[in-house]
Formats: sequence, C-alpha cells, structure tokens
Amino acid sequence: MALHQVRPRILGFISEDVSAWLVASLVLLAGTCLTGLLTWSMMELFKQQLRQRFELQAEERFSRLEERFQGQEQRLDSLRRFFANSDGVSYAEFRGYTEALLPRTRAFAWAPRVLGGERQSFEQQARAEGADNFTIREVDNTGDLRQAPERDEYAPVLYLQSQASYGSPLGLDLLSDPLRRAALERARQRGGLVVSQPLDLMGVDPNLARGVLLVAPVTRASAKEPFGYVVAAISMRQLVGDGLPESGQDNLSMRVLDLSTEDREEVLFESLDPSVDSSLSAIRLLRLADHDFRVELRPSGAFLATNHSTVESLVVLGGLLSLLLSALLYVLVSQRQRALKLVEQRTQELRAREQELRGTHGQLRGVLDAATQVAIIATDLRGVITTFNAGAEQMLGYASSAVLQSMTLESLHVPRELQARAAQLGARYGKPIPTCHAMLVEGGEQGGQQAREWTLVRRDGSHLTVNMLATPMLDDQGLWVGHLAICIDITERKRVHEALAARDLLLKKLSAHVPGGIYQFKMDFNGRFSVIYASDGIRDIYELEPDVLVQHAEAVFSRIHPLDGTRVRASIRASAATLSPWREEYRVQLPVRGLRWVRGEATPEELPGGGVLWHGYISDISDLKRVEEELRALSVTDALTGIRNRRYFQERLTSEMVRVERGSGELAVIMLDIDHFKRINDQYGHAVGDRVLQAVCQRVAQRLRRTDVFCRLGGEEFVVLCPDTDGTSAYALAIGLWEGLRAAPIDGVGVVTASFGIASWRIGEGADALLLRADSGVYAAKQAGRDRVETQLG
Ligand code: GH3
Ligand code: MG
Ligand code: MG
Repeated sequence: MALHQVRPRILGFISEDVSAWLVASLVLLAGTCLTGLLTWSMMELFKQQLRQRFELQAEERFSRLEERFQGQEQRLDSLRRFFANSDGVSYAEFRGYTEALLPRTRAFAWAPRVLGGERQSFEQQARAEGADNFTIREVDNTGDLRQAPERDEYAPVLYLQSQASYGSPLGLDLLSDPLRRAALERARQRGGLVVSQPLDLMGVDPNLARGVLLVAPVTRASAKEPFGYVVAAISMRQLVGDGLPESGQDNLSMRVLDLSTEDREEVLFESLDPSVDSSLSAIRLLRLADHDFRVELRPSGAFLATNHSTVESLVVLGGLLSLLLSALLYVLVSQRQRALKLVEQRTQELRAREQELRGTHGQLRGVLDAATQVAIIATDLRGVITTFNAGAEQMLGYASSAVLQSMTLESLHVPRELQARAAQLGARYGKPIPTCHAMLVEGGEQGGQQAREWTLVRRDGSHLTVNMLATPMLDDQGLWVGHLAICIDITERKRVHEALAARDLLLKKLSAHVPGGIYQFKMDFNGRFSVIYASDGIRDIYELEPDVLVQHAEAVFSRIHPLDGTRVRASIRASAATLSPWREEYRVQLPVRGLRWVRGEATPEELPGGGVLWHGYISDISDLKRVEEELRALSVTDALTGIRNRRYFQERLTSEMVRVERGSGELAVIMLDIDHFKRINDQYGHAVGDRVLQAVCQRVAQRLRRTDVFCRLGGEEFVVLCPDTDGTSAYALAIGLWEGLRAAPIDGVGVVTASFGIASWRIGEGADALLLRADSGVYAAKQAGRDRVETQLG
C-alpha cells in the first residue's frame, strides 16, 4: 500500500500538510482568546469579591461610628439625667461622674442658666465653692477670654472635665458665642440633645480643636425651662479616628462631613491615607443627636494592596501556556513533517537502491552467464552448491539444474587430493580438517586467499586441472553465509607452461654446451641499450653475471677495451640503421683473465614502435687470433734468414709510398747483392751458402736503425727500406753496411762482400721506378767491379 494513503493525522485532527507556523499561530490565537475570556471572568469575579469585601468593611466602619455616636449621646444623656435628678451637684461629684465618661470625648461641661440679675451672686457662690476669680467671660476678637458684659441671660461653664487642659474655658458664657448660643437655644427648644455647628473647641489640643458641642438641656420635672446645660465637647477627629489602624494600613479612606451649613460642607475628618481611584465607595448619613453627618468611605491603597488581583499572573500564565503549547505544537508538527519527509526521501532512496540492486543482480547474472571460460560455483555453509554458472556447466559437463541444491563442491573433487590436503592442513593447524573443508581452508602459506591448483572430475569421469580461488561469502552483517569458488581451466596453460619449461631447459643446456654466450640485446627508440637475455656463457666472456647484464647493459662497455669501445658502439648503431647483421671482433679487458679477443655476431630485428632487437652470439677468439698472428708473421718472414720477405717488403713499400705521396717525409731504398755467391755455393756447399746468407743478414741487421725495414728479395738479394731518410743519409747508411760487411769475415768462408745500389724517392715517382733505380745501382756496382756502393740519387 502506498505510504500517502495511510498517512495519519497529527494528534488525530491536524492534516500534516498544514504549515507548522499556521498550527502554532492558531493555537496561540485560541490560547490568547481563552486566556482573555478567563481573565475577563476572573476580573468580574475579583471585582465582585472586592466590592463585597469593601462593603463588609465599610459596613463595619459605619456601625462602629454609629455606635460611637450613640455612645456619646448616651453618655451626655446620662450626665443630663444625673443633673436633672440631683438637687445639687457639687464639682467633685461632677468630676467623679464624668471621669468614667471621658474616653473619646474631649471634655464635659456643666453650664447653668444664670439670669442677668443673678450674675453677681452666682459668681460669688462659684468663687466660694472654690473656683478662684470666677467670672462670667466671653471670647474677645483675639480669641482670649474677657469678662462678659451685662446680658439678660448667661450660660457660663461652671464645671469642666477635660482630657487635657490648654487654658480652661471656665466661666465662658456659652450664650456669648453665636454658634454655641444657637446650639443651646435649639436644645432648649427641642428639649433634647442637639449638636452644634462645627466650631473651634476651647481649652483643647489645637490639633483636635475642630469639633462640635453636644448639648443637652437639663430640666427639672416640674419646670418647663431648663436650669442649665450639659455639654460634651467632641473632637470629630478623635471620635472617628480613635482606634483606626495606623496610617498606611487602613483599608478604608474615610471622610466625615458636616452638612449643617447649607451652602458649605465642612470636612471634619479625613483619613491620612488618601483614597485611590476606584469605583468603590460607600456614603452614609450618621445621626448624632439632631444632626446628620455624612460619612464617605473609599478604598485606600492598603485595601487594594491586600486585595490585589491575580489576574496579571493569570494573563502571564495563560499567555505563557499558550505560547508553550503553540511552540510545542510547532515543534511536534514540524518534526513530524520533517520525519515524514525523511521517510518519503528514504523510501525513494530505497526504491532507487532496489532498482539499482535489480540492475546489479541482472548484470551479475549476465556476468555469470557470460563467463563461459570461468566456472563460478557458490555454496551454502554445508557446501551444497547454490550457484553454478554457464562456465561451470561447460567446464564440468553438468547441467546447473542437476547440480543446484543436490551436489556439493566436495563431490566435484578427486577424493585422494582432498584427503592429502586435509591431512596437510590438519598437521599445520594441529586439528583434524574435514575433507569437505580442505579446499576452503586458507593454506596460510603466504597469508590471505590464494588460488590453488585442484583436479576436478567431469561428469564423464575425466579429470580437469583448474586453478581455484575459494573465498568465504559474508552477508551485510559480516556473517559467514557460504563460499564462492572461482575456477579457471588451466589444462592448456599447464601444457604450454610445461612445453615452455622444456624449451627453457633445452636452451639452457644448449647454451651451456656451446662455447661463448647467446644473448638478446635491445636498443630502444631513444638509443638506450638493454640486455633482454644472456646465457650463462656470457659470464665467461665478460666476467659479468648474466643477471647484472640484464639489469645494467652498459656494464658490457666497461669491459670492452678503450680502443675498441667507440668502434663497437658505432658498428651496433650502423647495424641498427641498416638492419644488417652485426659482426665485430674486439678486445675485452677482464679482471681475471686479462686481455681477450671476442667476436660478436647478431641479427637485428626491428621492433614495432621503434628500437631494434638483436639475437646474437659472442665467442672468445683469443686463440684463433693468436694463430692468425702467427700465420701472418710467418707469411711475411723469410724462413732461412728470419728477416722480412719480399711480400712484406711490397706491402710496406706500398704504404710508405702512400705516406710520402701525401707529402709527409721522405723515403730511400738500399738494395744489395752478394758478390760471387755462386762460387761460395760451389766451393763450400749449399749449406755453407745458407749460413753465409744468415751471417750477412745478421751483420747488416745489427747496423740498421729501428725504423729501417730489412727484407730478403730472393736468393742473395736484399733490400733496406728507409722511411724518412734522404739520399745522403741512405748513402751514409749503405757505406756503413758495406764497411761492416767487409770488416767482419765469416767463419770458414772469409770476407764476403756485396754490391750496393741506392735510390731515394723523387716527387711523382712510382714504386717500380724507385726500385728500378736502386736495382740499376746494384747493376752499376757489379759492372764497376763489385764490393762497392753505387748511388743512383740522380
Ligand atoms: P755475381 O757476383 O755476378 O752476382 O755472381 P754470382 O754468382 O753471385 O751470381 P749468380 O746470379 O750467377 O748466382 C747466384 C747463385 O746463388 C745461384 C744459386 O745457386 C745461388 N743461390 C740462390 N739461392 C741460394 C740459396 O738459397 N742457397 C744457396 N746455398 N745458394 C743459392
Ligand atoms: Mg744475384
Ligand atoms: Mg750475386
């Protein structure tokens, strides 16, 4: 099934074709929306909770204030009742009673009503009761107290109980001040508790001075008009602010406003903690006596600080989670896509490989079938044949169908050969080797896999010699799965090899029995010499090993005599140029045997691509040369006298003539004939005649120069060839010879004389003319009486 048909969706719903970025963006968007919704609902919940909490705290604050207000009312009312129900209250009683009432009230005062006429007596009585210098007073413009002027009615402060004294307002006529008077009058009218408008309290800590007076008329049961007033000075700041948390810790920001003045609202108390901007607020009118105070509550910074919202963390957390989730999905999707792409790529590669493998397999099969000269046999681990190619069929005569999976490689071998090999291997490795493995086990002779000769048995029973290379076959993991044997039929090769070996042996034997050496010598197209083959005989010729020559042909020339080397090289090149047989005789200077003459003969053959190959033979001709030399010497020597004969004289004369005709030097000839030799023969016999000839030769020869050539022309006629000698010198020499002959008698015969003729070469003269002139000289000497030197210099 094709891969793309079964592609699963990522996480079950995301198509893998969708871009990873798109998935991540969508998830991020969804996450953001979700976070927004959650945040919104959380905000709502938080706001609700905040409001509830605020309202709860505000309610608690309101009720506390209400309580305090009521407390003030109750306390003053109890003081009123105390006065109303008593016949007379002393200052001490007043102080004793009010002491317990004092908390949260700045001061309590008792102000009896004093009519204008009663003033003096009242003042006196007050002074009498202990109030020193008591007078009824009022506040002047500067805020100090002064004695009050005469009025119809007074309400002076008689008793006073205060928390702290900042100047006692004792004697202050409450009716003298409009605000206080208004409060007192309202109290009288109402017959109950009233509250004054806000005013500055006297005799009170200036910080707390702004406050109100709570006034209650004290009336006896029988009377209609009050006989005095009890007054509580209330600092709103103290009353409201007392017991509140410290600055900065109060959750509520509070304001208490007086509403008694129509056009103006006075703030009587304001928290030190400012309110924060918030929709939360609580306002309530709280009643103190006959008066409403507006109390405003707002959340303070501390409230918000203690009730901070977790929305931010939720947004951050939600955002982070969305981001993480989208990143995760991005990684997941992109990795998945990459992985799938990789799988697809690998699949394609695999297909290509498979195709390639099929091709290779086909090629291999083709190669196996085409290799008809090579038998390729593969076996499994048991040795059973699994591949048997066309070459094997042809070589062994079996059809592959008859062999595959039914025959073993062992069954194709000659058992005896396998057993011998198994025994040999067994001995080497020290353990028995089964015969079925004998052809597979490495011999280890040279390490590695080595081809080895085996005899295989054909189907018809005939034998076949093959060269077999057996190698183990390994699979991809390197496990041994079988063997591969490659066999080449070497029957023919072996036969040729044997024939060649026999030919080699023959050549060796022949060359060993032939004096001298045979060789193959080559000159490359570039003129470089090399020895291809040199038989053992060469060793005697050059006193060099044949191997050395093959490696270094120039060694030959180190042996050739310096005077012959150039000639030999030239003749070789000439033979190469004309492809004519080479033949040369030359000397060699050998370390052991010294100077020897050799003769080389070779037939050249032109090589394709340039160069010449000679097949040749070299022999030692030193003995032949020596005989030749001897024969030559004999041929030019007179047997009787031992001096040179006429032939030699002719040769030398010819070469000397060539020389003088070239213009280099001179030439003279001295001819002599023994006088009356016939008589000596006749008189002493032929043998004595011969001895006389020898003696004459000896006497002449001893007077000659080294360069002079003395020859016997025949009978008793001699000639001396004098190179580089002019006529005068020749004459002097002839005289010397003549005298020498005459001065030395021969034993038994006496003085033997001779007649001399001399001729020196003239320019343009031939050899015959020269000799003729010398001969004429001899003739002239004979004619003139013999025993003389006759010159023919003319
Ligand atoms: P002349 O003074 O005129 O030269 O007289 P001659 O006798 O020397 O000259 P002739 O030519 O008449 O004689 C030469 C003789 O030398 C003749 C020959 O028998 C003799 N003769 C030639 N060759 C030999 C030789 O080898 N040995 C001996 N013993 N005699 C020889
Ligand atoms: Mg003669
Ligand atoms: Mg003579």
